[in-house]
Amino acid sequence: SSALRPAGELLPRYVRVNTLKTTVEDTVDYLKRDGFSYLGQASKLDDLTLKKRDFVRDMYLPELLVFSPKTDFHEHFLYKAGHIILQDKASCLPAYLLNPPPGSHVIDACAAPGNKTSHLAAIMKNKGRLFAFDLDAKRLATMSTLQLRAGVTIHQLAHQDFLKLNPDSSQFKDVEYILLDPSCSGSGMVCLQDDDSTADQEKNQMRLASLASFQLRCLNHGLKFPSLKRLVYSTCSVHRQENEDVVTAGLQQNPDFRLVPLLPQWPERGIHPLNQCLRASSTKTRTHGFFVALLEKHIADKKCKQ
Ligand code: SAM
Repeated sequence: SSALRPAGELLPRYVRVNTLKTTVEDTVDYLKRDGFSYLGQASKLDDLTLKKRDFVRDMYLPELLVFSPKTDFHEHFLYKAGHIILQDKASCLPAYLLNPPPGSHVIDACAAPGNKTSHLAAIMKNKGRLFAFDLDAKRLATMSTLQLRAGVTIHQLAHQDFLKLNPDSSQFKDVEYILLDPSCSGSGMVCLQDDDSTADQEKNQMRLASLASFQLRCLNHGLKFPSLKRLVYSTCSVHRQENEDVVTAGLQQNPDFRLVPLLPQWPERGIHPLNQCLRASSTKTRTHGFFVALLEKHIADKKCKQ
């Protein structure tokens, strides 16, 4: 029942160090001088249950620091200066797993407000090209401010429907990586979770079906970019319809792509048979609910195909 679910505020406070502006070591030193106690790198889930001003480094994501719930950094110098980004651990997975090398050309298809965009820029060391699109002008305005504060210089922001981009346009000819984090039900956000016993079930089903069809159109569109090597698909939904079902349909319709097995040690996997994909939840990973799949192009060897 919902009464047993940990409330959103009981999730750890996750802080991503923005390596465009600083290093993990400098950030840890600064925080120690500021009265926080560093306990080293976590090795198991229980190490993320922290008290007061204790903090650790995450066991999977090297640039992620973990604090006790409710630790508030909104007025902190490191946050205001763009040295740290307040981002849930699960939502750090897509850019980390896509891992585009510096110098590459990348599309962030549904980008605003842009925490994943700035994470991509950090991984690319601000080298290469990062095309970031979103349909929502208001969210794009917030995004511009955040990217400036984070020191991102390689992005090109555009108020643009991703589905209307022409994959064969010459400006995208070298795009090898796409991050696709489309609009979803948001059902993984711990603060939005509620009982399913509402009278609105039918309405919810219709909403889910329409989101899933939009998500599949985005996935199919992303897979059309001619030089694409890898696409990461993510949602903050717990519904199979928006996650495994979208990926399964996308793979069926694009046989040149296959799933990349992700982080073998990660405790929560996609619903069978998509165990290459990751899921996340408050109980198993101490994060919001989340789903990530990484698709990779494989060139079938025609001789072996018969
Ligand atoms: N990736 C973002 C981040 O990490 O900050 C969050 C993205 S949010 C889940 C989904 C975004 O997709 C919304 O900002 C929404 O405006 C945008 N969106 C919805 N439909 C779109 C479309 N057809 N083309 C581009 N963006 C779209």
